[in-house]
Amino acid sequence: MKHQRIVLASRPQAEAGTEHFRLETVETPAVPEGHVRVQVHYLSLDPYMRMRMNDAKNYAAPVAVGEVMVGGTVGVVAESKHEGFVVGDSVVCMGGWQEQAVLDARQPGMVRKVDASRVPLPAFLGAVGMPGVTAWVGLNHIIEPKAGETIVVDAASGAVGSMVGQLAKAKGCRAIGIAGGADKCAYVREELGFDACIDYKQHRDFASLAAALDAVAPRGVDGLFENVGGVIMDVVLSRMNAFGRVALCGLISGYEGEPLVIHNARLLLTQRLKLQGFIVSEHMQLWPAALKELGMGVATGQLKYRETVAQGLAAAPEAFLGLLKGRNFGKQLVKLV
Ligand code: NDP
Repeated sequence: MKHQRIVLASRPQAEAGTEHFRLETVETPAVPEGHVRVQVHYLSLDPYMRMRMNDAKNYAAPVAVGEVMVGGTVGVVAESKHEGFVVGDSVVCMGGWQEQAVLDARQPGMVRKVDASRVPLPAFLGAVGMPGVTAWVGLNHIIEPKAGETIVVDAASGAVGSMVGQLAKAKGCRAIGIAGGADKCAYVREELGFDACIDYKQHRDFASLAAALDAVAPRGVDGLFENVGGVIMDVVLSRMNAFGRVALCGLISGYEGEPLVIHNARLLLTQRLKLQGFIVSEHMQLWPAALKELGMGVATGQLKYRETVAQGLAAAPEAFLGLLKGRNFGKQLVKLV
């Protein structure tokens, strides 16, 4: 049996392009003891993958040139040599950019069974998966919001940001989003229920974006869930109230090597701010509680989400490059089956 996969063809020196990926057809490996073969139905595309393409200091090892691109996947067990799994089980796993994944099911967290009867399978890669848990952990364990506080999140229409604002609203906070374009902002306000959303593309410089934020957050900002960095982060930091909290989740504006500068570092001191970077996979003890709440929210329709779905493995590189440019609207997936 053969299957297709996408490998890292070479490392980008600056902006990534389709030439850095290669589609291959390979022999599907046999399934050793303790392993399962998963037929991948959906592949998750996530911003962190851009950092794994570089050979630079990071919290996780880079993908080697010639190796399959890493990635979260959902699919169905097609062959099992592990007693915990039978053919037909729906699973979430780190299958990578390929149609068939042979995985060691004995490794903790490698393959996890999911109940796809109340939550659609692809949602386990978004709202009820790693991005949803990221929102939950950063909000509840770093920002620790109190009712009545003002919480700002950027990349607000995306997989993580969309959940941050909805969870903050559920806690009685004022949720303010920042996103690119009128359509995304309308969605954030009208469908996700944020109190306001600022289109940063209409406010490119510090003064203009700061004025837009002042208009919707006249009492300042108590919690910032930071996904972007750069001028957006600078502006929100400048409006933080005393003892404000910043969950530093991502810095997507710098993932292609652009410099990331904090001009308002003095405010960290004068406003006695807490700023904490975090990686969701280092908080595994919090996942069960987070997944329970997120799963309930999605199953009951209280938590809303949106997906952009590319069709077929060959479409993955373009879709991934689009994600880095904001061409996705909600969680970016690739449908393989
Ligand atoms: P999204 O679904 O939000 O997609 C990325 C979005 O980022 C784009 O749609 C775009 O939205 C925005 N964006 C891209 N470039 C820029 C830019 N230069 N300036 C402003 N906005 C930009 O992705 P995710 O929800 O999956 O991820 C959001 C962030 O969370 C990322 O930084 C990611 O790395 C981080 N993350 C961190 C984790 C952790 O453990 N720390 C785990 C998961 C995610 P727009 O059109 O609005 O500009």
